[in-house]
Amino acid sequence: MDRKGVLYVVATPIGNRADITQRALSVLGSVDRVLAEDTRHSGTLLRSLGIGTPLLSLHEHNEQVQVEPLLARLRGGADLALISDAGTPLISDPGYRIVRAARQAGIEVVPIPGPSALIAALSVAGLPTDRFVFEGFLPAKAVARRAHLQALAGETRTLVFYEASHRIEECLSDLAECFGAERAAVVARELTKTFEQVQAGSLAELNSWLAEDANRQRGEFVVLVAGAEAAADAELDAEAQRVLKLLLAELPVKRAAALAAEITGARKNALYQYALQHP
Ligand code: SAM
Repeated sequence: MDRKGVLYVVATPIGNRADITQRALSVLGSVDRVLAEDTRHSGTLLRSLGIGTPLLSLHEHNEQVQVEPLLARLRGGADLALISDAGTPLISDPGYRIVRAARQAGIEVVPIPGPSALIAALSVAGLPTDRFVFEGFLPAKAVARRAHLQALAGETRTLVFYEASHRIEECLSDLAECFGAERAAVVARELTKTFEQVQAGSLAELNSWLAEDANRQRGEFVVLVAGAEAAADAELDAEAQRVLKLLLAELPVKRAAALAAEITGARKNALYQYALQHP
């Protein structure tokens, strides 16, 4: 039987070109075509790495129509490598449809792992990493974004968000509003690049840090937020927890948290978070 091609999913650097792996170089140099989100951008990268493999365009808007022609190439024996503009394909990037279709067609799909902003940020944030949730980009519209964040306020795992420079201020201020200004968080900016910064603090502190210098709002961001339980449990003493539990037996969460705050002097938001975690 004729040999089918292989679809390689290849991670590329998120800033520092020296982060390309040996395997990525060898695969990108030996496949028949490289599938790239932005062929101009990736052409520059490949040329700088001394790779002359021809590129095909595969982005969010043409992925669906490209699936069949690409499967035909793979069935015909061509090896293809999927890359995105930066980091690992499919992580907030195109590629899901072609990977799924290739697997369903019995074509071998091989990962060539490497950089991803999500993992790079988690590895240096100093927040719990045993469990985390990757939320990708938040909704662009304010109402939808806040509703989404409200629904996540009780999440106990470390939360990881991607954010663009033009929305980073709104993102951090909405996070403070929905999760409480005291919640611990980390902003990881321009990872692996010249102006890399990893800043930790409460959401209130990070909002001020961002406002202090317009340069800090530039570039690419990963925002990481401590999970709710760790934050609320650490903050509430045994008496506040006891009062809250008594009130929760009789009242809705919001009212119970407000009354418990008045009685014990604990923060309403911490009580509210705690209540969500201990129904
Ligand atoms: N596939 C990529 C990955 O594996 O990380 C992510 C692609 S997504 C379209 C781009 C977003 O990733 C940026 O808006 C930013 O949130 C994050 N990002 C990418 N490179 C970054 C970097 N060097 N520093 C911080 N965040 C970065």
